[in-house]
Amino acid sequence: MAMMDHDIIIIGAGPAGLSFARAMAETKLDILLIEKQPESVLADPPYDGREIALTHLSHKIMNELGMWGLVPEEHISLIKTAKVMNGHSPYALSFDHTEVGEENLGFMISNHRIRKAAYDSVKDYPNVTFLNEVTVSKVDTDDDKGWVELSNGERLEAPLIIAADSRFSNTRRMMGISTNLLDFGRTCIVCTMEHELPHNDTAYECFHYDRTVAVLPLNNGQVSVVMTLTSEEDTDVLAMDEQEFSDDVAQRIDHKFGNLKLSSKRYPYPLVSTLAKTFCANRFGLIGDAAVGMHPVTAHGFNLGLRGAQTLAHELQNTLQSDGSFAPNIALERYSRKHRKHCLPLYHGTNALVRLYATTEYRTAKFARKALLRLGNHIKPAKRFIMNQLTEIKDI
Ligand SMILES: Cc1cc2nc3c(=O)[nH]c(=O)nc-3n(C[C@H](O)[C@H](O)[C@H](O)COP(=O)(O)OP(=O)(O)OC[C@H]3O[C@@H](n4cnc5c(N)ncnc54)[C@H](O)[C@@H]3O)c2cc1C
Repeated sequence: MAMMDHDIIIIGAGPAGLSFARAMAETKLDILLIEKQPESVLADPPYDGREIALTHLSHKIMNELGMWGLVPEEHISLIKTAKVMNGHSPYALSFDHTEVGEENLGFMISNHRIRKAAYDSVKDYPNVTFLNEVTVSKVDTDDDKGWVELSNGERLEAPLIIAADSRFSNTRRMMGISTNLLDFGRTCIVCTMEHELPHNDTAYECFHYDRTVAVLPLNNGQVSVVMTLTSEEDTDVLAMDEQEFSDDVAQRIDHKFGNLKLSSKRYPYPLVSTLAKTFCANRFGLIGDAAVGMHPVTAHGFNLGLRGAQTLAHELQNTLQSDGSFAPNIALERYSRKHRKHCLPLYHGTNALVRLYATTEYRTAKFARKALLRLGNHIKPAKRFIMNQLTEIKDI
């Protein structure tokens, strides 16, 4: 094979791209990460309001990749109980850590701390380099290689190109991979709040008819609040003064935490979920949100990104020869098949759940919402299934 600039080019050094680079770093393959943000931002990412709920499988993968130990312990919070509520009804679908025999159901870490840990875990590998403050203006592949053309005019070649450039991936589009895009016409506002009553490590998801509010336990007297509302309403809610907003959230969750006080900026995110029709093409793979961009209500996005990064890394390593050559297309196809099989039910299930809980129109939907919570509590296999999706304990 002709000499190439790198063995693997990864486009996008977000949490998925960095995790994949780290998962491949020990192979000694020459890996290049192309990222439009400056390296100083990767080294010290700003807070973005996202508090990420992580499963036990993600804990295990982050441990194996040396990322977990790089997050200071005081910034890792535990979820021990989770309750799903329908409006102001006191009835809840409940999950408790004792049912899975673990200390907790899951973990909470801020997105910026995950990004920092992922960067710190990979930055010192001599075979991993960064090219920052450039974007990819063209990408293509042929039988022998893939290549990218950059905004600075440079052209780089590698046997394998991986896109980790977000759910709105431009390079996925350039490669002609079509994508299902579901715009919910809603916005998610995230922030942290101080609370008066103890949260007891309990996460609440309250589905109201116009808005949903999730409250997730954090350390140091804080909770993370995730509110979804129609995009028409978001300007008004963002414009509320701090007291009005705090009182509104407290009332929507029936004062379960007593008085609340806003303790961060409010960060709006448009709610759009995406699913690429395939996760691979010739010498080209999609990982992270570029493969599947989840609605945050079931907190699966990065958990899936991490699992996918590890799956692809394993498949590539399985084809790696002692001379450093590898079989990208075989690995990509195996990865795409395995990862899609795992993602598809979660993607469609999450979207169906969102539709059911966002509708105000149909009596049957209202009935189904109530019934679902009761079935979830009383039908043991259903409960076990949901519990495993929440914790991914069985997948360890
Ligand atoms: C409100 C909210 C709450 C969430 N909560 C959870 C949760 O509880 N649990 C969970 O698992 N997930 C959660 N997620 C999802 C999680 O944040 C994402 O899945 C994860 O951040 C995706 O990582 P990524 O690396 O694939 O993409 P991104 O984080 O989007 O990173 C993409 C990177 O690519 C770079 N880039 C883009 N285009 C180019 C280009 N052309 N050239 C070079 N670089 C480029 C960007 O600068 C960026 O660094 C949540 C998401 C939101 C919005």
